[in-house]
Amino acid sequence: MNSELTAYITLIATSSVLNLFLFFYVFFNRHKYMKIAKLFLFYTAATTIYCLGAAFGMMGTTVGQLKFWTTIQYVGMPFSPPLSLLFTMQFLGMKVTKKRVISFLIIPLISLVMVATNDWHHLHYRVFEVDPTLGAPYIHLEIGRWYVVHGIFTFSCLFAGFVLILAHWKETAKTYRPQLIALMCGQLVPMITAFVYLIGLTPPGVDPVPMVRWLATLFYLWAISSSRLFTIMPIAKDEIFNSINDGVMVLDDSNRLIEFNTACKKMFPQLNKSMFGNDLEQVWHGLSGTSIPFKLDGTELHQEIEVITDENSKRIYQVRTSMLQNSKNHEGLLIIFTDITEVKRLQLQLEHQAYYDELTQIYNRRAFFQKSEQDFETAMKEQVDFTVILMDIDYFKKVNDTFGHHVGDQLLIHVAKACQIQLQEGDIFARYGGEEFVFALKGRTSIEGEVFANNIRGYIEAHPLESNEGEIPVTVSMGVAEAMKETGTTLYQLLNQADKALYSAKEKGRNRVQLYLEHSLVRN
Ligand code: GH3
Ligand code: MG
Ligand code: MG
Repeated sequence: MNSELTAYITLIATSSVLNLFLFFYVFFNRHKYMKIAKLFLFYTAATTIYCLGAAFGMMGTTVGQLKFWTTIQYVGMPFSPPLSLLFTMQFLGMKVTKKRVISFLIIPLISLVMVATNDWHHLHYRVFEVDPTLGAPYIHLEIGRWYVVHGIFTFSCLFAGFVLILAHWKETAKTYRPQLIALMCGQLVPMITAFVYLIGLTPPGVDPVPMVRWLATLFYLWAISSSRLFTIMPIAKDEIFNSINDGVMVLDDSNRLIEFNTACKKMFPQLNKSMFGNDLEQVWHGLSGTSIPFKLDGTELHQEIEVITDENSKRIYQVRTSMLQNSKNHEGLLIIFTDITEVKRLQLQLEHQAYYDELTQIYNRRAFFQKSEQDFETAMKEQVDFTVILMDIDYFKKVNDTFGHHVGDQLLIHVAKACQIQLQEGDIFARYGGEEFVFALKGRTSIEGEVFANNIRGYIEAHPLESNEGEIPVTVSMGVAEAMKETGTTLYQLLNQADKALYSAKEKGRNRVQLYLEHSLVRN
C-alpha cells in the first residue's frame, strides 16, 4: 500500500471515527437536547455510513468490491446534505414537517437505488471501473444523467443551508454566533470539497469529501460542548425576544448596550445596532437629549417615564429593571419598557368621568362632597369662615318644554360657564343635580357670599343664552348659608339651610339671592 493511499485511508477513517463518536455522543445525551437532535442524529448517522463506506472502499481490490462499498456509501451520502439542511432549518426556528422531511429524501432514495442497480441502466455512472492507470482501489468514473440530478440536489441543499444561516446572522446575538459558524462549516466543508473535486482539482480516482468531513465534525463537537448547540435554541429565543410587546434593552456589567428587541426599536426608532457597546448614558442622550431618567443599580424599579416620539406625541412607559446574574457574578441588566400610554389615558378618562359632570365639565355631586368635606373640616378646625350657596335655574322646565331638551342642555352649559368666570381660587363649584348648582366658599362670610351670589345672578341675567332659537333670557335663584363655628354645624345641615334659603328665594319671586338666618329665615 503506497503512502498516499495510507494517508487517504487515515483521513477517511478519522472522519468515520469522529462522526461515529459525534453520533453516540448526541445519542446518549439526547434526553438533554431538544427534539432538534433527532434530525441531527440521522444526519451524523448518514455521514458516518458514508465515511465508513469510503474507508472500506479504499481497501477494495476488485471492481465488485468497489461497487459494493460505493453502494454502502450511498446509503448515507445522498441523505447527508438534505438532512443537514433540514436540521439547520429546525435550528433556525423554521417549520420542519414530516411531509417536508419525506419530500427531501425522495431524490437521495432514488440515488441509492440508482447506484445499487447501476449495472442495469448506467444512469448514475455511465462508466464505473477500476482506474486503468492507478489500479484498485482508485476508480475511473464517468457520470450518468441521474448523477447530474443527484449532484445538483446535493449542492442545492448545502448551499440553501449556508444561505439560511447567513440570512440569520445579523439577527443572532453575538453570543450565539459560534453556533452559526459551526453550522456554516458543516455546510461549507463538503460543498467546497465537492466543488473542487468536480472541477478536477483533487487527486484522481478518489472522492475527497470523506477525507475532510472530520473538520466539519470537529466544528459540531466544539459547538455542542462549548456553546451548547441543541440545549438552547438561540434563534427560537430570539424570536420570543422579538415577538413580545415590551421593549427590552440588555446591558452588560458596565452598563453598555449589548442588545435590544424589535419592540424597543419601535419605541425608540433612533436605536441602532451600531450603538452596541456604547454606554447607556450616551445612548440615552442620543435618543432623547436628556440623561437617563431611571436608576441602573438593579434595585427593584417601577418607574414611569415620558418620552416624546418622532411624531411629537407623548408616550408613557413604565420602566422595570432586572439584574442578570449567574450563580456569583453580576452579568448585566435587563431594562423592560411597557407602553402604558393607553392605560394611563383610560385611567385619566375614568377618573374624569368619576369626578366631572359629562355635560358641563364641572365637578359632579360626588366630587363636590369629597372636596368640600375636607375644606369644611379644616375650616371648622381653623375657625375659618365657610359659606355654601345653592343655585337653581328659574323656570328651566319651560326652556326644555319650549325649545327642547337640547337647548336646555345648552343653557346648563351656559350657566355653568357664567359661574366659572366669577370663581376665585379655592372656591368649589359643582353641578348638584338637574339644574341645580352648588358653591363652597372657604374663607368667606355669608355677607361676602351674598355679594358673590348677587354678582353671578346679575351676570347671568345680563347674559342671555345665544341659541339657534334666538336669545333665551335666563335667571337664577340662590340660597346662601354660612357655617356657625360656635354651634358646630355639619356640611349637610349647612346645605339644608342653603336649600331652605333657596326655596325662600323662589317663593319670593325668583331671580334673587336669599341669605339663611338662624332665627328669621327670611331677610330681604
Ligand atoms: P323653578 O323655577 O321652580 O326651579 O322651575 P323649574 O322649571 O326650573 O324647576 P323643575 O324642578 O320643575 O324643573 C327642572 C327640570 O330640569 C326638570 C328636568 O327635566 C330638567 N332637567 C334636569 N336635568 C336636565 C338636563 O341635564 N338637561 C335638560 N335639558 N334638562 C334637565
Ligand atoms: Mg330644581
Ligand atoms: Mg329650576
